[in-house]
Amino acid sequence: MDTDLLIGARFEPGTEAEETILNPKTGETILSLAEASHAQIDAAVDAAEAAFTGWSRTTPAERSGYLLKIADAIEREADAFAALEALNCGKPINAVRNDELPGIIDCWRFFAGAIRMLNGPVSAEYLPGHTSMIRRDAIGVVGSIAPWNYPLMMMAWKLAPALAGGNTIVFKPSEQTPLTALKMAKLLADILPEGVVNIVLGRGETVGNALINHPKVAMVSITGDIATGKKVLTAAAKTVKRTHLELGGKAPVIVYDDADLKAVVSGIRTFGYYNAGQDCTAACRIYAQDGIYETLVADLTSAVSTIRYAGEDDSQNEIGPLISRRQRDRVASFVERASELGHMEVTTGGSPGTSGGFFFQPTVIAGARQEDEIVRREVFGPVVSVTRFSEPEQAVAWANDSDYGLASSVWSKDIGKAMQAAARLQYGCTWINTHFALVSEMPHGGLKQSGYGKDLSAYALEDYTAVRHIMINHG
Ligand code: NAD
Repeated sequence: MDTDLLIGARFEPGTEAEETILNPKTGETILSLAEASHAQIDAAVDAAEAAFTGWSRTTPAERSGYLLKIADAIEREADAFAALEALNCGKPINAVRNDELPGIIDCWRFFAGAIRMLNGPVSAEYLPGHTSMIRRDAIGVVGSIAPWNYPLMMMAWKLAPALAGGNTIVFKPSEQTPLTALKMAKLLADILPEGVVNIVLGRGETVGNALINHPKVAMVSITGDIATGKKVLTAAAKTVKRTHLELGGKAPVIVYDDADLKAVVSGIRTFGYYNAGQDCTAACRIYAQDGIYETLVADLTSAVSTIRYAGEDDSQNEIGPLISRRQRDRVASFVERASELGHMEVTTGGSPGTSGGFFFQPTVIAGARQEDEIVRREVFGPVVSVTRFSEPEQAVAWANDSDYGLASSVWSKDIGKAMQAAARLQYGCTWINTHFALVSEMPHGGLKQSGYGKDLSAYALEDYTAVRHIMINHG
């Protein structure tokens, strides 16, 4: 197993405190890894800075070639990456191999193509005798920080557009899920010029904090909690760094009376519980109209009770455990507090699993009200609440009454009605009659406290490049 940091062309272990990496399925230790020292973080930033001039001057076609090689190398080793990610995150191997890896590889390939055909305004003489043109140039060293829910995918979402745009990078995976990033370090070092990507390990409050405060880091890109995003903004203010923030969600799912009930139930069973609900777009906050509410709760309850999650035969499991004991206990405490209020009913699940791992039963909570914590706060676990509404206006107002603004969905056979709701929802994405479907060509990112900046799509290339104006006086 690869365990070293990547600093320039050097592989070396961290020299500070050790972090224990656990197998979430069993609670057992996989290994311990030492985090980077301040000197190692400085060396990584210096290596990225030294590599910037050369890398940012490569042509789009050259960078595209590197990205395609990276995609091919991941594809060749897809089984090994899937096994490692499954081990570190507790995900069912089939979910990583069949759902995540193809999307990850496609992300690298998409940005390899997209960088070769960026669009922009045409050059013109806005002042007589002067020609103006717009450039999009690399920003510099990007400090890139990832969460634990999709480690390899978040790495692709962050690295591919930043590299395509001509930036160099110091990447920090989550201290809980560094294993695939360490394997990627070897793969990237074999393909990219020295220093273009550097990988450091460690906790947020130490290594992450050093990175976001580093004077030579020009941009910070982070996916994580809102509280972490606020720390990034505070740190960025000191040297006016650019920031790209993907910060959680609490996706509303509006189900009108005329929705296709079977599709809704099947959709929520999949998209509300995928990755054990540790997904910022999870379909976790259902608003069901009066006429469909009772049947929806009954059918969803029986569908969710069949989700396979802790079986010995991993190939049969649909979801895995939570990432840690702490996260499982946090999910359990949300459900306990909801139950104690009296007006809500846990119709299925509601308890931690009984095995040694950090499992939590797939759970449905019916009768939730708009003011309830379970409706307002991100649980990040396999827990879906259902709230009843009467008037369509009310559902949209409740959906928008949230600090979050990442993803949402609307379910109705009347596309006109669904489109009206979609136009008024204050979310980075609204799906109609589906949820959670991502494609590399379309942007992913939030409004409000879910953050700003887009992952995927040509918009991510815009975020990782700076607009510049060149004016020529030709008399
Ligand atoms: P987290 O904020 O605790 O950690 C995310 C990353 O930030 C980790 O690498 C961590 O080490 C680092 N970090 C923590 N404190 C830091 C600090 N002070 N300075 C610098 N770096 C710091 O989040 P998490 O628990 O790993 O992930 C779960 C959260 O991420 C959830 O809230 C989830 O919604 C969010 N998330 C959002 C998206 C999105 O696209 N919007 C995607 C995935 C996860």
